[in-house]
Amino acid sequence: MLDKLAQKSTVLVVDDLPLNRKLQRLFLTEGGYRVIFAEDGIEALQKVKKHSPDLILLDVMMPRMDGFQVCRHIKNNSQTRFIPIILVTALNEIESKIKGIEAGADDFIAKPFNKLELLARVKSLLRIKHLNKELQQKIRQLEEAQIKLKKLAITDGLTGAYNYRFFKEQLEKELIRAKRHNNHISIVMMDIDYFKQYNDAHGHPAGDYVLRTIANILRNNIRNIDIAARYGGEEFALILIETNHKAASIVAEKIRKLIEDFNFKLEESQPSGKITVSMGVSTFPEDGKTFNELIDTADRRLYKAKEMGRNRVVLQ
Ligand code: GH3
Ligand code: MG
Ligand code: MG
Repeated sequence: MLDKLAQKSTVLVVDDLPLNRKLQRLFLTEGGYRVIFAEDGIEALQKVKKHSPDLILLDVMMPRMDGFQVCRHIKNNSQTRFIPIILVTALNEIESKIKGIEAGADDFIAKPFNKLELLARVKSLLRIKHLNKELQQKIRQLEEAQIKLKKLAITDGLTGAYNYRFFKEQLEKELIRAKRHNNHISIVMMDIDYFKQYNDAHGHPAGDYVLRTIANILRNNIRNIDIAARYGGEEFALILIETNHKAASIVAEKIRKLIEDFNFKLEESQPSGKITVSMGVSTFPEDGKTFNELIDTADRRLYKAKEMGRNRVVLQ
């Protein structure tokens, strides 16, 4: 019975003697392989490039370029080094075998050829190659899954913004850095105004759409190094790296205005006829030195913004 792996496999036979080529073709064809030929080392390298065979049977003694040289070429090239090579040596040539191993050969077979041995060696190397390929595929899949998982762990599912955990982690990290380099960091806390009314009037899915839209507006209007996170239900927070209080107030005001001016669906039902947000800003080091101090201060200012009539940024 023909092997399934054999039927899909091409073997390159490299030998300068016609009789040897003929014999190997006979055996390999009976084993179900597709066979291609090269008569010397130079031609072998051309055929490898052109056909990328699954395995190479390589004669050691050849004119122009011997089997060791060909083997080194193939094994030193990242495109071809996974092609298994069986070196064909004269019987019991221990020196050739040592040289062959150094050149990167995967296996040896001695002349005169024994059909069953030849087929067995070819088959076993192809099987290893196949398993290796599957393994590489699995490793790649695993790596991709890990990247996805890492991203999921720090992302809020509804809005795609960073989640609270990541926000906290990053702010703590950035505070350590800012202390070391004497830099400012500002945070902006924001909360949607009268959001309950919007939800009550239009339903939760409509409210979700507002949350997603605001997350997009935030993402699109901060620098790459800054962070926009969903802090809680309808609260977002920004970390503005190396940004002092004055600069942060400009960013916050710009975003407040963008949200006010954005045409959200069904927003006419809101008390002011618009979806708006209130914001509180705090800055390291003057408003606090720790995560909690900075959050508390920003929160207090956010509350003040609500008290003062909403849709505004409070800085002090
Ligand atoms: P204020 O201007 O004082 O902030 O009033 P508000 O109505 O926004 O505040 P309140 O805290 O009373 O209501 C917050 C609302 O946010 C209630 C809840 O329905 C809504 N909310 C929180 N999380 C989600 C969410 O994941 N999806 C949706 N659609 N709504 C949410
Ligand atoms: Mg709230
Ligand atoms: Mg609110």
